[in-house]
Amino acid sequence: MLRYGDKVAVALSGGKDSTSLLYIMKKIMEGHRSELLALTIDEGIEGYRSESIENAVKIAKDLTVPLSVKSYKDFFGLSLDEAMHVKSEKGLKATSCAVCGPLRRRAIDRAAEELGANVVATAHNLDDILQTFYINLYSGDIQRIAWLDPEFSSNSDNFASRRIKPAMEIYEQELAFFAYLNNLPLQSESCPYMNEGIRTEIRMNLNDLERKHPGIKYSTLKTVISIAKVLGKSEISPGKAAMRCVKCGAMSSGPICSVCGTLDILRVE
Ligand code: SF4
Repeated sequence: MLRYGDKVAVALSGGKDSTSLLYIMKKIMEGHRSELLALTIDEGIEGYRSESIENAVKIAKDLTVPLSVKSYKDFFGLSLDEAMHVKSEKGLKATSCAVCGPLRRRAIDRAAEELGANVVATAHNLDDILQTFYINLYSGDIQRIAWLDPEFSSNSDNFASRRIKPAMEIYEQELAFFAYLNNLPLQSESCPYMNEGIRTEIRMNLNDLERKHPGIKYSTLKTVISIAKVLGKSEISPGKAAMRCVKCGAMSSGPICSVCGTLDILRVE
C-alpha cells in the first residue's frame, strides 16, 4: 500500500482503531523515506468529540507525528449538531450518519490536500467493511459495493489522494485488544447519533454469526472483495459508470455528489 516518498496522512479520530493504526504506521515507517502526518476532523458533536480529540492530540504528541485538527465548521460553516438541528427543522428523513459520513470524507480530503499529503490512510477494519457492504446491499447501492475494492480506492485517478485501509483485514476486537495491550488511549463515550441507522444492528448480527461460526467474517470479506472486483469489471464499474459532480468535480454516482447534495439540502456552502 505504501511507496517510497509517499506523504501519508492518517485520519486520526482518536478512537481505538485510528490510534492503533497511527502507532503501527509510525513503527513500520521508521527509517522509510516517507512522511507520516495525522489529521483529525472535529464533526462538532457535543459531549462526544472532545474526549477523542484529546486522545488524538496525546497520541500524536507521544509518537511525535504532526497533527492537524480541522472541523466541519471550518469547511462547511456548521457543526454536525447544527446540521442535525436544520435537518429536524426541515423534517428530513436522512439519518445523522448519512449526513455525517459524506461530510467527513470530504473534510478528510480537504484537510489532506492542505497538508500536501498524497495518501490518506483510514482505520477501517474488517467489521467496518462488512457493515458498509450490507448497508449498501440493503439500500441497493451497487456502485458503492464496487467502491469497496481496495484497488479502486487506492487509484489516485479516482480520488484527490490515494486512499488506503491498512487495517481492513483485521477484526475490530483485535484492534481493540491491540490498543489495550499497548496502553493506547481508549474512548469511553459513543457518538449519540450512532444508533439511528441500521449499522449497529448489522454489527450485532455479524458478531452473533461470528460467535457461532468463527472465521465467517473473514471469509465474507474475501467474498465482498471478489464481488467488488467483478462489479468493477462490469458496466456499472466505478471507472465507467461514475461521473464527476457538476458542482465540485468529485467522483459521484449521480450528477451531484452526496456532499454537495447534503450541503444543498442544509443550504450551506
Ligand atoms: Fe458521524 Fe454517525 Fe460516526 Fe456519529 S456515528 S460520528 S454521526 S458517522
